[in-house]
Amino acid sequence: MKWISVILLIFLPFTGCARVQTGLNRTERLLIGTEQEVEIGKSVAKNVEEKYKILNDPAIISYINEVGQQVAAKSFRQDVKYHFKVLDDENINALACPGGFIYIFGGALAAMENEAQLAFVLGHEIAHVSARHSAKKIQKVLGVTLLARLILKEDDETLCQIVNLATNLLFLGYSRRDEFEADELGVYFVHEANYDPQGGIEFFEILKKIQKREPSRIEVLFSSHPSSSDRINQIRGQIERLPKKEGLEIGENRFREMTRGLRGRYQKGSER
Ligand SMILES: [Zn+2]
Repeated sequence: MKWISVILLIFLPFTGCARVQTGLNRTERLLIGTEQEVEIGKSVAKNVEEKYKILNDPAIISYINEVGQQVAAKSFRQDVKYHFKVLDDENINALACPGGFIYIFGGALAAMENEAQLAFVLGHEIAHVSARHSAKKIQKVLGVTLLARLILKEDDETLCQIVNLATNLLFLGYSRRDEFEADELGVYFVHEANYDPQGGIEFFEILKKIQKREPSRIEVLFSSHPSSSDRINQIRGQIERLPKKEGLEIGENRFREMTRGLRGRYQKGSER
């Protein structure tokens, strides 16, 4: 096993392990290929769906999917299929599993005011997938030996270990740096998809208000290290540097209409 790892380490830079885009202007070599990432992601998504209930509302699902796919079409990562589901939970959160399985909490939808805000939150999650934040973290934590075993499909136990690790990483939240990067990429993707990137700023302003009133509803992802104010500042600076575009979509009426039922369901989210 050790020898295989050594050989992999020596030859990976020259062999099958392709260089992939992980940032707007950055490429990296990753040990985990897309096929393996999707395999891990499917199991992590299963864990999410065991922990939370999925909201079964066909109109909402198709709406979220429509907005999500529009933003995902502008992602620089197109070797995975993006899936969007709503979790029937009043908390304000969203999750991105490796491989493109994205979840938004009902409470987060109920707290939003327009489609541009929704597009930003989905864009932020798409960005975690595009930048391969979880695959890179798994690689860092596991090291080459375990990954070599996964790559060589040596045993199910290794895969199970990796899925557990990826699930824990998901619920613990990403690093400060990854969060800032996901915001930056998210803003870029939504702007490319013709949504008003101000939606990002508005969303964090809403979070700031809720954080003061009921901090327990902001789950780890949005309450983690970078403060809403720091994130707003970064987005504001980025928007100033973006090329000016006419007719950016905000979609307030459509969003209100599509999520009316949800606001009633998670009433706290609509009290502002
Ligand atoms: Zn994030």
